[in-house]
Amino acid sequence: MKILDGIKVSGEILRKLADEVSRLNLVHIHPKLAVILVGKNPASLSYIKQKQKACARTGIEWEQFDYEEDITTEKLIEKIEALNADETFHGILVQLPLPKNVYTPKVIKAIDPKKDVDGFTAYNLGKMFLSTEFEHLAPCTPKGVIRLLEYYQIPVKGSEAVVVGHSNIVGKPLSAMLLNRDATVTTCHIHTKDLASHTKRADILCVAVGKPGLITADMVKDGAAVIDIGINKKKDGSLCGDTDFDEIFKKAGYITPVPGGVGPMTVACLMENVVTATKRINNIP
Ligand code: NAD
Repeated sequence: MKILDGIKVSGEILRKLADEVSRLNLVHIHPKLAVILVGKNPASLSYIKQKQKACARTGIEWEQFDYEEDITTEKLIEKIEALNADETFHGILVQLPLPKNVYTPKVIKAIDPKKDVDGFTAYNLGKMFLSTEFEHLAPCTPKGVIRLLEYYQIPVKGSEAVVVGHSNIVGKPLSAMLLNRDATVTTCHIHTKDLASHTKRADILCVAVGKPGLITADMVKDGAAVIDIGINKKKDGSLCGDTDFDEIFKKAGYITPVPGGVGPMTVACLMENVVTATKRINNIP
């Protein structure tokens, strides 16, 4: 049984990126991320803090733009268009969720795909569906899952991969990335009949739902790799995933802890996307 250690693997990614950023600085290129935060959602504030820390570790410059909850979709788009045109910025990140009065798809659509380091625009999502060759700015959480599988040399090709959750930012793109790597992919969701019949077949089981205890040990195949993407807050304030970690730990071949699994990998992959965007904007291979 192996723990898939997202803190260790993300640390290695960040160290390599710091070297890469230093090399870019030598040729007077300074990767810079613009972060747009609307309101003061505590979860968003905590995610932003982690991203800011990773920027500091890698030498990526950071500028944050804070707005009140009552900002309009049009005003946000105006800001994004200014950032698109500003050559000193290489990445633009709009921290989600946005308040109800803002129409999120329109805001995301306004981001120049070249600077879309979250990989949420239709252009970058569409591109990543083609093949691994076109995953330059793939969404960070699915990318983080793939990096973990690669690091621990978990075979994907020909495996039965089951993804629980079909959101546009995690489940769907992760299913596509597994398919790009020749897994046989099943994507489950809230309307899936008999979830356990699918999860029990999985060599690789990825869960991105947001419901603690959804996946119990009897739903997992012996020796499976279980990737728990869920982040849930317990009553005592601590975090847990969507799987019953203690019981599955006895049975699975690999499992990600929450916290310390996919979370830090997501942040590291965001940093990687900023560096990729910077290099592509500057025509550096
Ligand atoms: P979402 O709410 O957009 O989607 C939830 C998905 O779960 C949907 O596809 C829904 O159909 C499915 N679902 C709900 N109940 C189900 C059930 N009983 N059985 C099967 N499927 C069910 O969520 P999201 O944005 O994809 O996030 C999912 C989870 O992943 C959340 O806990 C979120 O906090 C976490 N997350 C973690 C990271 C990270 O870096 N680790 C990043 C993004 C999201």
